[in-house]
Amino acid sequence: MFESRRNNHKEKVIITAALTGAVTTKKDNPALPTQLDEIVKSAEACCRAGAAAVHIHVRDEEDKASMRFDRFEEIVTKLRAANFPGMINLTSSGGQGFSWEERIRPFKELRPELASFDAGTMNWLNSVVFMNEPGFLEQCGKEMIACGVKPEIEIFDMGMLNTAKYYIKQGIIKEPAHFQLCLGAPGGMEATTENLVYLVNHLPENCTWSAFGIGKGANEITLSALAMGGNVRVGLEDNVYYNKGQLAESNEQFVSRIVRIAGEMGKTPATPQEAREILGV
Ligand code: ZN
Repeated sequence: MFESRRNNHKEKVIITAALTGAVTTKKDNPALPTQLDEIVKSAEACCRAGAAAVHIHVRDEEDKASMRFDRFEEIVTKLRAANFPGMINLTSSGGQGFSWEERIRPFKELRPELASFDAGTMNWLNSVVFMNEPGFLEQCGKEMIACGVKPEIEIFDMGMLNTAKYYIKQGIIKEPAHFQLCLGAPGGMEATTENLVYLVNHLPENCTWSAFGIGKGANEITLSALAMGGNVRVGLEDNVYYNKGQLAESNEQFVSRIVRIAGEMGKTPATPQEAREILGV
């Protein structure tokens, strides 16, 4: 059923580590990397553990969500100077109230392999509006094409998937597109296998995809995605708990679990180079 809806490699799984995010804090989990050296160290540890990509957000000196260019620049420069082997994925959202320019500048100037592209506006965690208005998405998509950065299209519900297909049709997102199916965020679709199957069945034929769950459905989505031939994202951005009532020790702890499970299923983690080939970046 899923065979025709993915170009994912059959025996390889691309593991992405979402290190920090914009929402969780050190109060939620003291292991959350928020300052520059912590983020760089966490990225390197995740890559050593088997991640092929790291998804990066930055915080200010007080750990508040930020889209400050100098913070992104410092992290990316440090990683590159240390010959970081993994793919770099920079967020283009970063929290609330940032200008289009602030959201676009990091990927535009630093040219990571990937950057997130959130394909629609939603009521984020029942508290604020996560704004991704049409004008922003058009500009974001065009800038990504212009600077050779592949969008990782974040999908929180079926409407966003339809929106992404619209931009593919308009040529604002190039095929084969790469999707990150984000389930379990309040305001979006619940983290259930049923919802994951539904989304995967409606993906464009010519694409690659990955998935993750937030909260109580996290492990279910990870295991289902692996079983369906998808790639997976893990990390403290999405979950501060490793299992119910048990705080995660680190981002790499999540990565190591996927490596073990994938191994038991006869799969191996894609190396960063293999992941680049699978995604065409
Ligand atoms: Zn993110």
